[in-house]
Amino acid sequence: MHNDIEVLAKLWKRQPGPAAGEQPARRRWSRAELVSAIASRQFVPFFQPKVDLKTARLTGVEVLTRWRHPEQGMLLPSEFLEQLEGQGLIEQLTDCVMAQALSCVSGCKVHGRDISLALNISPTTLQAAHAAEHLAELVAASGMCAAQLTIELTETVACETSAAVHESLIRLRELGFQISIDDFGTGYSSMKLLSTMPFTELKIDRSLVSGAVHDPKAALVLESIIQLAGKLRLRTVAEGIETREDIVLLRALGCEVGQGYFLGLPMSHLHFLRSLEAGRTPIATGQAAD
Ligand code: C2E
Ligand code: MG
Ligand code: MG
Repeated sequence: MHNDIEVLAKLWKRQPGPAAGEQPARRRWSRAELVSAIASRQFVPFFQPKVDLKTARLTGVEVLTRWRHPEQGMLLPSEFLEQLEGQGLIEQLTDCVMAQALSCVSGCKVHGRDISLALNISPTTLQAAHAAEHLAELVAASGMCAAQLTIELTETVACETSAAVHESLIRLRELGFQISIDDFGTGYSSMKLLSTMPFTELKIDRSLVSGAVHDPKAALVLESIIQLAGKLRLRTVAEGIETREDIVLLRALGCEVGQGYFLGLPMSHLHFLRSLEAGRTPIATGQAAD
């Protein structure tokens, strides 16, 4: 198991992402700058691997948006997301990045199976009438099927969703999409929310994962969340896996899928395809865990 995970980690980690310290100071963008950046496709999808912790196999990727700014370099979502949202441009961003991500990943296979794609969606996008149908049309046009797509909604915003968002989520689920509650543990989800929203996946925030190896109480919290998810029949994904010890603990606690810098950094489309190509043989022939 350790060998498999380490082989996988090496394959997916070759290209480091921008370090936090290398990011330029946060600045304000004009609406015209943001609109023009969307139109010229400067916003691009990066892909971070999601790995089955039992088999060490790639199960899918999460799309994380980056801004390839012509002068400022590669910018992280913290540099632009809120401003896009504030300017009412988040739906355009979603369409632009989703179309690129779908065309990048459509047809990609791992172990003979179609790859799955996780997308972060703002509630603003889901607020629109026919939001679910619109997303389903984009997916169908790419040749992928809705079941390959997971819509991630962060816990803090999930708590504040309107009836319109709730309805879109139900509709998305009816259309076959998977729905994930992202950053679980950072907000204040009530048990009612977990039981009333049509979630299929619970994604544990990295603040709960990091350090749990050395903190028995934190490990107990993790264990309880994983057990709760199991009882609610939600798939468990842990984010922020940065060490092999994290994997050992999460596997022991029964967490199904992992994501984090140890397993793979968010990477460009090109790097993703190269890694997929390079990884196919060693991963496919690697022995499953245990
Ligand atoms: P998220 O969906 O929770 O994504 C995980 C974030 O944690 C990403 O940050 C990822 O780069 C980072 N991460 C992954 N593994 C590790 C690790 O092992 N250690 C640490 N310290 N961090 C790790 P990123 O790319 O900066 O994205 C931040 C947030 O921005 C995302 O959090 C998501 O909520 C949002 N976001 C990203 N792309 C989009 C998008 O296209 N649309 C919307 N609405 N939100 C997006
Ligand atoms: Mg996410
Ligand atoms: Mg998250």
